[in-house]
Amino acid sequence: MTDTADVVIVGGGIEGAAAAWALAQRGVTNIVLAERNTVGSGMTGKSSGIVRCHYGVSSLAAMAATSLEVFERPEQFFGADVTDIGFRQTGYVVGVGEVNVGSLRKSLTAQRAVGVQTEEIDHAEVATLWPFADLDPFAAFAYEARGGFGDAYQTAQAFAVSARAAGVRIRQGAAMTDLLLDGGRVTGVRLADGTEVSAGTVVIATGVWTRELLEPYGIDVPIRAVREQIVMVAPGVELGPVPVFSDLVSLQYVRPEPGGQLLFGNSDLSHVEEADPDDYPNRAGDDFIDVTVDRVGTRFPAFTNAAITGSYAGCYDVTPDWNPVISPAGVDGLIVAAGFSGHGFKIAPAVGRLVADLVTDGRSADPRIPETDFRLSRFAEDELLKSPYPYAGAGEMR
Ligand SMILES: Cc1cc2nc3c(=O)[nH]c(=O)nc-3n(C[C@H](O)[C@H](O)[C@H](O)COP(=O)(O)OP(=O)(O)OC[C@H]3O[C@@H](n4cnc5c(N)ncnc54)[C@H](O)[C@@H]3O)c2cc1C
Repeated sequence: MTDTADVVIVGGGIEGAAAAWALAQRGVTNIVLAERNTVGSGMTGKSSGIVRCHYGVSSLAAMAATSLEVFERPEQFFGADVTDIGFRQTGYVVGVGEVNVGSLRKSLTAQRAVGVQTEEIDHAEVATLWPFADLDPFAAFAYEARGGFGDAYQTAQAFAVSARAAGVRIRQGAAMTDLLLDGGRVTGVRLADGTEVSAGTVVIATGVWTRELLEPYGIDVPIRAVREQIVMVAPGVELGPVPVFSDLVSLQYVRPEPGGQLLFGNSDLSHVEEADPDDYPNRAGDDFIDVTVDRVGTRFPAFTNAAITGSYAGCYDVTPDWNPVISPAGVDGLIVAAGFSGHGFKIAPAVGRLVADLVTDGRSADPRIPETDFRLSRFAEDELLKSPYPYAGAGEMR
C-alpha cells in the first residue's frame, strides 16, 4: 500500500501531536501522524505536568510563557467545547539558598524581558502559601501566580483531536520501520505493515527512542534515556490549596494532587541513572524512597503522619545540555523534535508552532524564540544551550 502526504510526523506524544495541531492551524492538513502505540502512550503519560516559565534560557522562558496561554484558554485554541485540558492554576513557587540568590534575580530580570509574569516574594508570603514548610534554609523565592500543573496525556489528546478534526490522519499502532531516502533527501517513511507514505517533510518526534531510530541513517541525535522516579505521599494533614513548590535547597519538587495527596519529584540531576526505555523498573527503588522520606521530613516537619501511597518511574530523553533539539537534521526534509530532557510538557504548544514554522518557512516566526537555539549542530560545535544564570546544584533544567 502507498499513501501520500505533505508531512509525516512520527511519534504521537505531546510534541508530535502539538506539531500536527500547529501545522493544521496554518492550513497544512495533508499530514499523516504515525504512532506505534497510542497517542500519549510514551513518556507523555508519565509527566508530572509542572507549568512554570522559570528559565534562564530566554527562548525557553518565552516558549513557556506563550504556551501558558493555551493551557489557560483551551477553548480559544481547541474549540468552544474544550474548556478543560487538565490545567490547574495553583501558582508556582521556587525557593533557593544563599548561593543561588544572584542567579535567581538575574534570571527573573531576563524572564520579565520576554514577557514572563514573575515576582520575588518573601518568607512571610511563602509561609502563607505553603503553611507546613520549613522555610528557614531558603534565602529567596520567586512566584508565578499563573503557574501550576497540567495533564500532559489529556493535553496531547486535545492536540490530536483538534488536528484530526482539521483533516490530519492519525494512525495508531503504526510504527515507522524505515526512513525513505533518495540521495540527500527524505521522501517518506515505511510503516510496520509495509505501507509506504511518501512526503517531502518528515518530522521525527519519538522522544527517548529517537537516537536508535535515526542511527542507521548516519544521523546522530545525542539523546540518552534517564530514569526518573516519582513518589506519592499522603501528608496526613489537611493542606488546603497549595502551589507547586520547587525546592532548590533539598532538590525536590512538590505538586498538589486533586485528592489532597502530594507528588514528589527529584531535582538533583547531578547523578543520573541511564535506562532502557522499553524495560525499566516502573516503581521507585528503596534508595530513592529513603531519599524522599528524608527530603520530605526535612522540608515538612509537620507531616508527622505522612504515608507513601505509591510510586512510578519514567524516562527523560536527555541531551548533553538538557535542552531539546527542534531542528533540521542530516538530510533535506527531515526535522527532529526530541530531547526534551524532562521539561517538554510546559513548552509543547510553542514546540508545535516552532516545528510548523520550520516546515513552512524554515525559521521561527517569534523573534524571542530563535530556531538556532535548538539546532542539532550545536553539540558538534560545542555551543551548548545553557542558562547564563546557572543554579549551583540544580543547573540542568533552569
Ligand atoms: C517522570 C517525568 C516527569 C516529567 N515532568 C515534567 C514536568 O513536570 N513538566 C514538564 O514540562 N515536562 C515534564 N516531563 C517531560 C515531558 O513529559 C516530556 O518532555 C514530553 O512528554 C515528551 O513528549 P514527546 O512527545 O517528546 O515524547 P513521548 O511522549 O515519549 O512520545 C514519543 C512517541 O513516539 C512513539 N514512537 C517511538 N518510536 C516510534 C516509531 N518507530 N514509530 C512510531 N512511533 C514511535 C512512542 O510510542 C511515543 O508515543 C516529565 C517527564 C517524565 C518522564
